[in-house]
Amino acid sequence: MKTDPKYTLPKLPYALDALAPVISQETLHFHYGKHEQAYIDNLNKLIQDTEFADMELDEIIRKSSGALFNNAAQAWNHIFYFFSFSPEATKLTEGRLHDAIVRDFGSVDNFKKEFVDAGVKLFGSGWVWLASDEDGKLMILQKPNAGNPLTDELVPLLTFDVWEHAYYLDYQNRRADALTKLWDIVDWDVVSERYDAVF
Ligand code: MN
Repeated sequence: MKTDPKYTLPKLPYALDALAPVISQETLHFHYGKHEQAYIDNLNKLIQDTEFADMELDEIIRKSSGALFNNAAQAWNHIFYFFSFSPEATKLTEGRLHDAIVRDFGSVDNFKKEFVDAGVKLFGSGWVWLASDEDGKLMILQKPNAGNPLTDELVPLLTFDVWEHAYYLDYQNRRADALTKLWDIVDWDVVSERYDAVF
């Protein structure tokens, strides 16, 4: 008997051409439609008939290793990444997250610079993260491959994908340009809500 897969590709809250020119329709077609679909398909196959089949995805990420961790974390990371963007991006000018960024990084502009620098300096494929500890203290993390702050018992707030597949069609080797342009489409309302949920 064939059962429906547990995980499916969620519909994006914007059209595939809506983030251009920061992220082109072609990049989203492959990155969301092909790469992310493959991670989700692999995740469904790997949990089938195992102790992980009925586990929440964040728990799978904390408790698994090897191919299951890689595909579970990549599935989670990409949804988190794609849902951080909006064609009507809002600025971060006030609120608890704004105040915490100023407290921990000096200014929003300095935070953006340090975040991009961390992404540029991450050797090879991976993710750069803004995460919070349980007291609301913010930190920037470099995670290779499928890494995710959940395994450090931290709360993920924002991530930029620094795998080449995320930017190569649009920016070729210019990773710093690709990451810097993402600030134009980050939806700070979404990121702020994630921070507000920490407490
Ligand atoms: Mn990716």
